[in-house]
Amino acid sequence: MNQVKIGKFIAETRRGLNLTQRQLADRLSVSDKTVSKWECGKGLPEVSLMLPLCDALGITVNDLLSGERVAAADYRASAEQNMIHLLRERRENRTFLAVSAICGALSVIAGGALVALAAFADLPAAARIVLIVFAVAVAAVGIGGAAVLDRRAGHFECPHCKNLFVPTMKEYVQGAHTFTKRRLRCPACGKTGMCRHTLK
Ligand SMILES: [Zn+2]
Repeated sequence: MNQVKIGKFIAETRRGLNLTQRQLADRLSVSDKTVSKWECGKGLPEVSLMLPLCDALGITVNDLLSGERVAAADYRASAEQNMIHLLRERRENRTFLAVSAICGALSVIAGGALVALAAFADLPAAARIVLIVFAVAVAAVGIGGAAVLDRRAGHFECPHCKNLFVPTMKEYVQGAHTFTKRRLRCPACGKTGMCRHTLK
């Protein structure tokens, strides 16, 4: 799906209805920065927002995802294509999350095994130190890789304004977290809160 084309289409349709970004955002209970982000092609509306957005713009979801009003004759083919694109994106995100979890777990296990080897094997002191440094490096690279993949999959949702965003690596790493939420500062409203991790 062409995000830039979709963004331009949202902007054109919105202007055609004499709505400002703010007015459209208010109808959807999102921030105007979120609307601006869509219109600049920097992100697609979350699936749960697609119907309300299309209602507000007087278009169909198929039009939205195609980035233009779809003629009745082409409707079915383009709807199927759009559906397949959406499913594919979702599956890629799922794969990212699974790979990230496995990557993190394996590196911790590998790191632990190396530390155990260093502690219990009959080795010269220098070899022991090399092994421990190597173990820490393995764990660090694995956890770092897991974090990169996890951050890339989907978005975090601000609990205050429902803005969707991808945090910087620094914020991501520093944010206290549970399995599905992370404490982050929302770039749209500036408030800090436990942001839910959602897949695109
Ligand atoms: Zn916010």
